Amino acid sequence: MSKSLAFFRGKIVPSQEANVSISTHALHYGTGVFEGIRGNWNAEHKTMYVFRMKEHYERLILGCKMLMLDIPYSVTDLCEITENLIRECGYQEDIYIRPLAYKSEELVANLKLHELSSDFALIMIPFGSYIDSDGAISCCTSSWRRIDDTIIPPRVKITGTYVNGILAKTEAILAGFDEAIMLNQDGAVSEGTGENLFMVVGNEIHTPLISDNNLTGITRDCAITLAASELGLEVIQRRLRRSELYLSDEVFLTGTAAHITPVGKIDNRSIGDGKVGPITEKLRTIYARTVRGNNPKYKHWCHPVKMGNSS
Ligand code: PMP
Repeated sequence: MSKSLAFFRGKIVPSQEANVSISTHALHYGTGVFEGIRGNWNAEHKTMYVFRMKEHYERLILGCKMLMLDIPYSVTDLCEITENLIRECGYQEDIYIRPLAYKSEELVANLKLHELSSDFALIMIPFGSYIDSDGAISCCTSSWRRIDDTIIPPRVKITGTYVNGILAKTEAILAGFDEAIMLNQDGAVSEGTGENLFMVVGNEIHTPLISDNNLTGITRDCAITLAASELGLEVIQRRLRRSELYLSDEVFLTGTAAHITPVGKIDNRSIGDGKVGPITEKLRTIYARTVRGNNPKYKHWCHPVKMGNSS
């Protein structure tokens, strides 16, 4: 049997006891950084594979630096805390792991990061697919522009910045699309609301630069690495224009929650033949195997948490 537990104020507690005050700074101003990590259950191995946990925590620590969040844990500590909580919860299914470092000060009228206390919390929940579609999804170009590095740094996961993506995602869903693609302030292609973006033209794969206001995606890094090592294709990082996407052969999105998601339509125009393209299909299949600990070459990306023999 699994239990719903959280790591909160330095210890493991039942989730319903992990509560903050209404005066908490992060609740008012979005002064937190978070991660989304997947634990992928491999029933055959009786093991939870936590995918690229170290890299996620390295990015969290960079976010902490950005927001002057002083938490008393190293990347190694955070990995250990996560592993312990997984064991205590006892999930034997795919999970989504959500660490959050936040300004925990219970005093709202203070905008000076350096004066505010910080804390770290961790929750995890059973989690299946994020975008409900086996085939290629339909996207629109959002009317909302991606936040700029001169506004709030987009390369780390600051909680407050997610209002930007939430506005875009909501607009897209209410208009009948599956996801939004955002342009940056210069009109260049940025990313999805929770995914980085790739475009395939012939045998070439292109993706926007991180400096075009994109998150330093870990799945993005996986796609770049796997494209090179498994498909022999080097990914070109450059500035992309919206019209290039319309005329490309394939577009796909990458993210911890979304995995590798093919895009079949953008703004009601078919991308290629509108179906899952061959390069996307290959990458998606390799990635799916890799995250579940079934690709020996990339076993080092999977942090194994062996679960007891009960079921
Ligand atoms: N962009 C944004 C805005 C995101 O929230 C995410 C999800 N973390 C991504 C891209 C993909 O990043 P990753 O592959 O590290 O999950």
